[in-house]
Amino acid sequence: MRILKGIAASSGIGIGRVFLYVHEKLVVPHQPIDEGKTESELTRFKSALDTVAEELEGMGKAAIAEDHRKILETHLLMIQDPDFTDAVENLIHTGHICAEWAVEQVLSGFIEILESSEDAMLRERSADLYDIGWRVIRQMMGKRRPDLAAISDEVILVADSLLPSEALTLDPSNIKAIALNGGGRTSHVAILARALQIPTVVGLGNITSKVAKGDEIIVDGNLGEVSLRPSIASAKKMRDRYARWVEHEQELHELASFEAVTKDGHRVSLKANIETVDEVDSVLDHGANGIGLFRSEFLFLKPGGASEDEQFEAYRRVLERAKESGPVTIRTIDVGGDKVIPGMEGLGEDNPILGWRAVRFCLSRKDIFRVQLRAMLRASAYGKLKIMFPMISGPEELENVLLVLEQVKEECRKTGIPFDEDIEVGTMIEVPSAALCADLLAPKTDFFSIGTNDLIQYTIAVDRGNDKIAYLYQPFHPGVLRLIRMIVEKGHDAGIPVAMCGEMAGDPLSTVLLLGMGLDELSMSPQSLLEIKNIIRSITLAEAKELVEKVMKMDSFININTYVREWMHDRFGDFVTA
Ligand code: PEP
Ligand code: MG
Repeated sequence: MRILKGIAASSGIGIGRVFLYVHEKLVVPHQPIDEGKTESELTRFKSALDTVAEELEGMGKAAIAEDHRKILETHLLMIQDPDFTDAVENLIHTGHICAEWAVEQVLSGFIEILESSEDAMLRERSADLYDIGWRVIRQMMGKRRPDLAAISDEVILVADSLLPSEALTLDPSNIKAIALNGGGRTSHVAILARALQIPTVVGLGNITSKVAKGDEIIVDGNLGEVSLRPSIASAKKMRDRYARWVEHEQELHELASFEAVTKDGHRVSLKANIETVDEVDSVLDHGANGIGLFRSEFLFLKPGGASEDEQFEAYRRVLERAKESGPVTIRTIDVGGDKVIPGMEGLGEDNPILGWRAVRFCLSRKDIFRVQLRAMLRASAYGKLKIMFPMISGPEELENVLLVLEQVKEECRKTGIPFDEDIEVGTMIEVPSAALCADLLAPKTDFFSIGTNDLIQYTIAVDRGNDKIAYLYQPFHPGVLRLIRMIVEKGHDAGIPVAMCGEMAGDPLSTVLLLGMGLDELSMSPQSLLEIKNIIRSITLAEAKELVEKVMKMDSFININTYVREWMHDRFGDFVTA
């Protein structure tokens, strides 16, 4: 047996056989052909079309989710559209080029036209066309990529990486666990894995070259370890540990209906982070006080994006379903970086993480931004909705987004669209410049929510998804802790509540420190909520403040980590400090 060490990204243990998934860069052959080969190229093209169409039909019949089935139906129509097929056939005839090259050329021409269209619906179709065109090219090149949505056996998915759009298609009843070469605990795929409740370890280096399809492996998402080809004895040991963990989780469940109040009576609001509408059930099940972060961009990651009505429906459904738990904070789209939506492909930015993302994207694509704000305002008539802006870097940017919001509100008033006139608007603090001028931002906003995933990334200059430098990604870095304390102070000085919605909010190791620093609200994946509630209910605010004072005098994250870990271990044992 061999054990690989990675980063624990989603708790639980999965035991099963490997399904290998590696992204391979395709180079389309640019092959001129003789007149005599035209017919055979046409035949190759038609037969690839038939195979892909058959596959799409089969997948459409098997699709469980309505959204997914509709996408597959659209793809089927596209592949049968004579505008597309005639153009490819003509090019093979007249251009004397091989079929793959012809599809590639026709595809890029069509996509260019769609992307420059005034009609948002047409622009949204470009991603579908891209997807379907490449499916045909892959088929002809014999380089088909397995369809993750079609995995029907229970397997462990071992991959080099996963795009958020790929992770969204996974069916948790078949994927027992995920093990990835790359990624960090706060990478978006890790966040999605937690949302799907699939045990996951990321940052494993080169696991894809160390296992073969069908190998038996164990993924321990609590410890961040993967055991390759385990012996019967070690598989049993793992199963026992897993059983103890399940028991502990069941005990925690009894806390669902209790408040998160310290022994000396200090209450903290515990909310949930969600990425999809379906997660609301889990929010209710874990007794959250509402939703502190709905990452709305995940609605846009599917081919075709999300129209105003689709967004409105999704927001309204979340509000109505989550009503009994509390208010719902929806974040405007934070696209860019690893979350590329239709209309953003092929930007080729050198530094996408520092580039055209979140409100920066929205302020230059006001067409998309306004549509989203209108959908949110419309939904606000159906429950307590709060709007939150990501990646604000300073007061001007905040003023600019608030101005657009005011314009959209005015439009709604004029056209008689009802919305909540008292809607609260929050600012995410996740860029160091915003943290440093929190006092200037606080008077312009109703609440702060600290996005530690990005705040840590930008403060320490450490890519949150890069496993090679993951050792530097330290929530307890004195620089990070000072910033957090400062944001809370500045927010409170201005009389606004300060929340945290980054992954640090759901990390049991951080709970007492955050409580002592004065955070009013912690928002996290629903699965972490009860563990955090248990910790809060077991201590006093006075103890938490004492711990903060002690830690703030320490001079390195190593010392802080060791001290806090021991402090927590003494009181809460293994499952909190694993
Ligand atoms: C964060 O940065 O902490 C955050 C909550 O946003 P995201 O993880 O979506 O970037
Ligand atoms: Mg962020």
